[in-house]
Amino acid sequence: MSNKKIQIAISFFLLLLCSLPLIAANNTISGFRVWDSPEGSRLIIDLASKPKFEVFRLDNPERIVIDIQQTRLKGKVPRVKRNHSLLKKVRSAPRKNRSRRIVLDTKGKINYRSYELLPNREYGHRLVIELNSTEPVVAIAPPAPKPNKALRDIIIAIDAGHGGEDPGASGRNGTREKHVVLHIAKKLKKVIDEQNGFRAVLVRKGDYYLSLRKRMEIARENSADMFISVHADAYKNPRVKGSSVFVLSERGASDEAAKWIADQENSADLVGGVSLDDKDKTLAMVLLDLSQTATTDASVRVADNVLSEIGKIGPVHNDTVQHARFVVLKSPDIPSLLVETAFISNPREERRLNDQRYQLKLANAMLRGVKRYFKKNPPPNTLLAQAENTQTLLVEQGDTLSQIARSLKVSIATLKSYNQMQSENIRAGQVLNIPF
Ligand SMILES: [Zn+2]
Repeated sequence: MSNKKIQIAISFFLLLLCSLPLIAANNTISGFRVWDSPEGSRLIIDLASKPKFEVFRLDNPERIVIDIQQTRLKGKVPRVKRNHSLLKKVRSAPRKNRSRRIVLDTKGKINYRSYELLPNREYGHRLVIELNSTEPVVAIAPPAPKPNKALRDIIIAIDAGHGGEDPGASGRNGTREKHVVLHIAKKLKKVIDEQNGFRAVLVRKGDYYLSLRKRMEIARENSADMFISVHADAYKNPRVKGSSVFVLSERGASDEAAKWIADQENSADLVGGVSLDDKDKTLAMVLLDLSQTATTDASVRVADNVLSEIGKIGPVHNDTVQHARFVVLKSPDIPSLLVETAFISNPREERRLNDQRYQLKLANAMLRGVKRYFKKNPPPNTLLAQAENTQTLLVEQGDTLSQIARSLKVSIATLKSYNQMQSENIRAGQVLNIPF
């Protein structure tokens, strides 16, 4: 061989040597998880390292294809339940260059979004495929119009934090924040629904993740008068204990905060991938979407009431309402607060969080706080606002509703609405609410 040829051969050999690690370096898919929610589904692919991937849609038949480079599959692709709303089947096959193809056979054309999540305390590298039906999902029906009822209930949106892929904090004995807060939220809904003039809406109803924006949307679609996000705190020191209540701070704006918020705008939906390790950021992100300057006052007042009631049943971590550090950019319109019910990292409080009776105690404390606030500040056109301006009248033998209306100089409709009556029937001994 000539010198030139030897040189070329060596270069070629070096090149081959350099590219060897590339060919040999294999990523591994170690598992799949599918989370279904009323909003759609998420397929989570667990990987040994950061994936190089591509996701695209093909039709005839409709399918979503995920190609991950240099990856082998350990185990099996998930089996899809037969009546799944979006998916027919998940398949997988090796491709050239050791890449791995995963195919989601879908029921019709489906919207998708894909992104990576970095490792956190719970999971390693993940690839997330979000699937939504292209048809508008009527998952959360707006409150049904109530005929014959001019006055409305006060609506409280209850948001159980985290869910699905985002477990929130964990206790030493394995309690997951996402589970206990859902139990507490459900109890809170129950006790609120038992109150005259109040109705509660659960933002999250099961074990699935909802983006922060989606949580707020659900509250708005339901015309909520207030939003309570229920969480459980965690800290390194297991002795730290007590409840806290947060609202959004108007102060504390800084360049750093502004930058952080801007960064979060695009990643706010990343299932806690950014936020799980940073409590402050989690809080800020929730509150960010929930409050605006105009409603901060209301938030603080209701938060004060809730905190004072919670303080009666257990220790408080901070005995004043806490203000999260970040400023609001968007402008939702619902007074909002975030309750850290207890420290899940404190074994004693972890036990309490799992205790049904304590969950109910917490729910009742929150209810009392909320009620006390609304009694003092009833929104217009609500039954409560009316109740605060109501006198009563005892119906006597022979009275008719039209007679009473005439004598009070109000309409029959008003009387019916004050008393939530469907008909004009009244009977002696009955107590009627009347305006004054
Ligand atoms: Zn939380």
